[in-house]
Amino acid sequence: MASNDSTGILSSAYIAAEYIDTLLPDNPLQPPFKYAWTYMIDNYTKFQIATWGSLLVHELIYFLFCLPGFIFQFLPFMQKYKIQQDKPETWESQWRCFKMLLFNHFCIQFPLIFGTFHFTEYFNIPYDWESMPRWYILCAQCFGCAVIEDAWHYFLHRILHHKRIYKYIHKVHHEFTSPFGMQAEYAHPLETLILGAGFFIGIMVFCNHVVLMWAWVMVRLLETIDVHSGYDIPLNPLHLFPFYAGARFHDFHHMNFVGNYASTFTWWDKILSTDSQYNNYMDKVKAKPEKKTK
Ligand SMILES: [Zn+2]
Ligand SMILES: [Zn+2]
Repeated sequence: MASNDSTGILSSAYIAAEYIDTLLPDNPLQPPFKYAWTYMIDNYTKFQIATWGSLLVHELIYFLFCLPGFIFQFLPFMQKYKIQQDKPETWESQWRCFKMLLFNHFCIQFPLIFGTFHFTEYFNIPYDWESMPRWYILCAQCFGCAVIEDAWHYFLHRILHHKRIYKYIHKVHHEFTSPFGMQAEYAHPLETLILGAGFFIGIMVFCNHVVLMWAWVMVRLLETIDVHSGYDIPLNPLHLFPFYAGARFHDFHHMNFVGNYASTFTWWDKILSTDSQYNNYMDKVKAKPEKKTK
């Protein structure tokens, strides 16, 4: 009965969304995107799209989103936005991180990406343009995926910090006390699997088109690279989202090792009071007179 109810709610939501769609102006980005998508569908097999396409999306987006933070270290005027100013990035740490990333991406994540095709075949997930959900449905689905992933991340991350197991797995991710964007996926292979599982739950719940996987990968990478960037830049549009944690929030976790366990939103840490050390720290920072005018 519950599933009938939820199916009813979902189909009503889709009908309502279809109606809203007729009221909205045309998206100017749609024609070039439609052309690119149909070109891909006409020229590549589902296996190629699911496997090589997903790998390409992940690698391109990862390093593209890391690029601004990487460039900031060479721009003197950006240094005032660096959160831990006493710990600048070093070539040695970035190179070490890059090598581990390549290992993680190609030896751990790539075999998982291979499963994408079989997942879409098993659940009959469509690839074609006609069945693609509208952009606002896609946004709502990505938001749903983020809420689920955030809860998973909070509790599993907190368990990984338990003193009896911390040194075996999660210690690797905490090797750098002052994070930088590229470090977002720098982790023990087991952590990649444990915390990465939270990524797939939303997919299992919401996926009605292959485009959701790519959209959600983009959202998740944007978020995790931003919170690891080490820079709290002004006018960051991600902070328009209520309860978005942001770079300062996760930077504190790397600096302090305790508290701020969530990945995207602040609500779990607030509800379970694991943000109290962070709040005390921020109160002290705000109370200090600004002395750092070079
Ligand atoms: Zn941690
Ligand atoms: Zn981290």
